[in-house]
Amino acid sequence: MTPAVRFERVSRHFGEVRAVDEVSLEIADGEFFAMLGPSGSGKTTCLRLIAGFEQPTAGHIEIHGVTVEGVPPYERDVNTVFQDYALFPHMSVLDNVAYGLMVKGAAKAERRRQAEEMLELVVLAGLAGRRPAQLSGGQRQRVALARALINHPRVLLLDEPLGALDLKLREQMQIELKALQRRVGITFVYVTHDQGEALSMSDRLAVFNEGRIEQVGRPDEVYEHPATAFVAGFVGFTNILAPELAGRLTGRAEALSIRPERIDFLAPGEAAAEALCTVEGEVADIQYHGANTRYQVRLAGGGELIVIRQNARGARARAGARPGEPVRLVWDRGDVQPLHGGTGEAGG
Ligand code: ADP
Ligand code: MG
Repeated sequence: MTPAVRFERVSRHFGEVRAVDEVSLEIADGEFFAMLGPSGSGKTTCLRLIAGFEQPTAGHIEIHGVTVEGVPPYERDVNTVFQDYALFPHMSVLDNVAYGLMVKGAAKAERRRQAEEMLELVVLAGLAGRRPAQLSGGQRQRVALARALINHPRVLLLDEPLGALDLKLREQMQIELKALQRRVGITFVYVTHDQGEALSMSDRLAVFNEGRIEQVGRPDEVYEHPATAFVAGFVGFTNILAPELAGRLTGRAEALSIRPERIDFLAPGEAAAEALCTVEGEVADIQYHGANTRYQVRLAGGGELIVIRQNARGARARAGARPGEPVRLVWDRGDVQPLHGGTGEAGG
């Protein structure tokens, strides 16, 4: 199937700054695709390249199989939801939503009918007469969404659309947005710096770092098998073992990562099976986080590991580690992930 968006070695440089640096990428039709990365990693520039607000310095972009070089933004079958919503403050909610149809010259009754339909889609039907200032943050967000969807774009670009909302509302909107995307079935390209958001919402995600993509994959692939130290550290928290420490613990003297929740404590006197790795250490610090507890363990012979244990049913009986106590840690060899690109700087 023809991808919705295709980048072939696309670069966008601003003078010395390589905002986007030889990015190749295919986003499938109907996919919820997240672009994840820290601030300044080139995500917004990629969206602007798709939208046509920015032209590549080099490389090639296709939207639904058609080269978009020289095609102005309004002729591309895409629309954008911006982080600050960019609503018109002097217009009613209904007129904001209908704006795209007005630009196209649709008749007033038709504009009204379609705008009302869109407001229903985003569950705002009762608020058509209000001004943006009379809405909550979440409601404004939905108006922006309805406004972007009214022209039935085949690709919707969303740039940190939930960034201005508080945590509870953000989590609720994540679920709503994902459900909406399934319902309308169009391609979403979703920019975020929030790894939890990217993991929980997307079908696939690309992890950006300094204008380049470090890894593309399904959320579970990226989390379970981070390709680089940067990805391992940015997507979730991880222990990154420098080659020297890795060699001592696992016999493989190369940069490795192991997730803190994949490490467990051995009970005193408990023997570990052949397939397991063990190491002795001492609890240096304990942080209680409600659902889980985080242990900082200083290893015998140097180095440290973070261990996270869920405070799930039955867990209390096994805990009991206190600062200064000797412990033995255990993990599956298969949970240790080799990393490319050294130990990086993003690691825990
Ligand atoms: P992100 O959205 O991931 O935070 P951006 O794509 O906005 O990153 O920016 C990537 C890099 O490009 C940053 O270093 C930014 O300062 C730079 N940049 C973006 N737009 C411009 C511009 N119009 N002029 C100069 N530099 C820019
Ligand atoms: Mg940005």
